[in-house]
Amino acid sequence: MAENDTHGPTALRASALQEDALAAGASQASAPEGAAGGWPERLATRHGVLELPVFLPDATRAVVRTLDSGDLRTAGVEALVVNAFHLLRSPGARLIKAAGGVHRFMAWDGPVLSDSGGFQVFSLIRQNPNAGTIRQNEVIFREPATGEKIVLTPEKVIQLQLQLDSDIVVCLDDCTSADESEAEQARAVERTVRWAGRCRAEFDRLLEEASPRKAKRGIESASRRRPHPPVGHPLPGGEGSGGTAVGKPDAPEAGGRPLLFAVVQGGASEVLRRQCATDLAAIGFDGFGYGGWPIAPDGSLLTNLLRHVAEGVPRGTPLHALGVGRPDHVVRAAALGYTMFDCTLPTRDARHHRLLSFLPGHDQGPFDADTPFFEYVYILDQRHANDFGPVDPTCDAPCCTRYSRAYLRHLFKIEDATAERLASIHNLRFYTRLIDGMRRQRAAEAKTRDAGAGAAQGMASSSGSP
Ligand SMILES: [Zn+2]
Repeated sequence: MAENDTHGPTALRASALQEDALAAGASQASAPEGAAGGWPERLATRHGVLELPVFLPDATRAVVRTLDSGDLRTAGVEALVVNAFHLLRSPGARLIKAAGGVHRFMAWDGPVLSDSGGFQVFSLIRQNPNAGTIRQNEVIFREPATGEKIVLTPEKVIQLQLQLDSDIVVCLDDCTSADESEAEQARAVERTVRWAGRCRAEFDRLLEEASPRKAKRGIESASRRRPHPPVGHPLPGGEGSGGTAVGKPDAPEAGGRPLLFAVVQGGASEVLRRQCATDLAAIGFDGFGYGGWPIAPDGSLLTNLLRHVAEGVPRGTPLHALGVGRPDHVVRAAALGYTMFDCTLPTRDARHHRLLSFLPGHDQGPFDADTPFFEYVYILDQRHANDFGPVDPTCDAPCCTRYSRAYLRHLFKIEDATAERLASIHNLRFYTRLIDGMRRQRAAEAKTRDAGAGAAQGMASSSGSP
């Protein structure tokens, strides 16, 4: 997934009022409320607590291309996305389990989100019907080279991700392309919700099997409240809270459980997006992703669709804008309530000689999607041949602290793998610095809001005195 290939989630619990407004064709009147609206500030996983927002590079096949885990730490990366479908194809879930899980396999001790691979499978099959078959209860994929069949069911996708020992498990969804008919989109939403229910049931069953006493208690207490705990409330065996942190806040590796995210579909229909989100929220998940294509054909972000999904998800729930990765798109989606991002764009750009640089004076934020704050440096351009300055003077990654544009250009010219590695670290560092700036901005806004609320309270109490 990426801005060029994407996938994402979101869910919401629309109030009757919101649904009425939607039915009447009213546009969303309420402005995003930011952290004041209860958007999560942290996500606790078994491998550490993630500050939000966060950007997760795509380590699709258990590697961020050209980089090892040390390089990722150098770039300030905190968490990764792997792809369960691709890892099933090679090297196989059994091998990764034998290695001690995906963290040990790739020597990465931070949180890992595993995407189900639904996006990739469905794109392949919808583009080429010979690549497989989508059925009511399963997807059958045929390896182009060998003709070997891979059958994915909701249950199998959960089993697979737990075998990988993923921290954030993602349900199998039916990912459509934007140009499918509304009827097909509606079918995909129905299937996505039904499959998510089966994923949740399998997830609960496997956790219970792994930890009978603890999980059983979780299920009993949850079922006393309601059949399906809503998002942000504990799934069996979990410690999630509806507050600002979701998941278990401490003892990352000392227990706890993986988190389960569902993916919202609905194509370009605001009504279907909202319905899908509401239905998924009713089942109960730890977080939601915006699925399908978040980018319009003209390259702009589909903010209305993203907003419908964000407004439907219970506040306090992590929202992942799957595949959203252009820096201004990240800033724009964050303003709508999205707190998690992943994309292959930064590393793909790096391998294609396209480096990101903050515009002078913009490296610290605040970032506004409508005000340019970055530019692309096309390092193969002749004008960099004699430039002995860094790609970005504000960057603290090795690419810029040790080397010049001229040297990096030289490495690309002679096609040395070092060029791709240095450029990939640089572009990822751009994202982790962007995210740092967004977090600072958010903290500052919260402070201003608190001060405002304090002042208002002070005024109220003084005016209320006799
Ligand atoms: Zn750099």
